[in-house]
Amino acid sequence: MIRSDDSNIKKHTLFLAAVSILLLVFCGTSLLKEAIAAQKTAQHEENQTHWGYEPGNGPFSWGKLNKDWLLCAEGDQQSPIDLTGARQKKMDGMKLEFPTANLKIVHQTHVLEALDNGHTIQINYDGGETLKIGNKRFALRQYHFHSPSEHTVNGRRNPMEMHMVHVSQDKKLAVIGVFIEQGRHNAAFDRIWSNLPTQTGQEVHHENVQVDIDHFLPRNKATYRYRGSLTTPPCSEGVGWFVYVEPIELSRDQIEAFQKIFHGNNRPIQPLNDRTLWYDGIEKRLQ
Ligand SMILES: [Zn+2]
Repeated sequence: MIRSDDSNIKKHTLFLAAVSILLLVFCGTSLLKEAIAAQKTAQHEENQTHWGYEPGNGPFSWGKLNKDWLLCAEGDQQSPIDLTGARQKKMDGMKLEFPTANLKIVHQTHVLEALDNGHTIQINYDGGETLKIGNKRFALRQYHFHSPSEHTVNGRRNPMEMHMVHVSQDKKLAVIGVFIEQGRHNAAFDRIWSNLPTQTGQEVHHENVQVDIDHFLPRNKATYRYRGSLTTPPCSEGVGWFVYVEPIELSRDQIEAFQKIFHGNNRPIQPLNDRTLWYDGIEKRLQ
């Protein structure tokens, strides 16, 4: 009896072991598949991490939301900054090529293509090289708006700021910043403003709408210049910033039309750290 029981128990144990191994193999494979799938989903989501300006996904969280956005938290050449204490060119001979460079807009009109990317209204542009800084040429890729302004001057904010993002053939970025203050109606923006997308992700194509970028810019061409970053994730550094000292004007209605869609899409001021803020103008002395 005992032998028989032993034998039965052995058989039973063997059977259980075999089932367990089969289960392990099956579940293992299945778990592995699930793990790979989960990883893929995570990677996919990580690439599309949602950032914004709300608590939880706002500027103070950007560096933690995605490992590719570490610079947002740890970078030391970040934008925007307060544009105070600028030095006129040829001060210490540092970054000489930067303050002595010339800024020249070459192309003037383009086809409008407005896209509400959830963070701002962005107008994409593919008109070739439009900007020359010294001998370096840049192509305008897109321009977009923030409200209130991201850069400040002596702590003062303007109601809006326009950013024109340029890239060179060797992938260097140059961004022109234009302050917008409340004033007279600015007809140069009518074509964009009458086509402002109302829904996130909505893409608006207007093949035959021409916009004259020259009219977006102030008369006084003096600029603040410094080395900074993108003001949105991934906060990439090495961006040449050129912010016009003189603001342009939009009417209260125009500003409010934008603010109805976006308000508070500005990153807080970042420390200047070991950087020099330059002022290239000669027409107007800074205090
Ligand atoms: Zn911007």
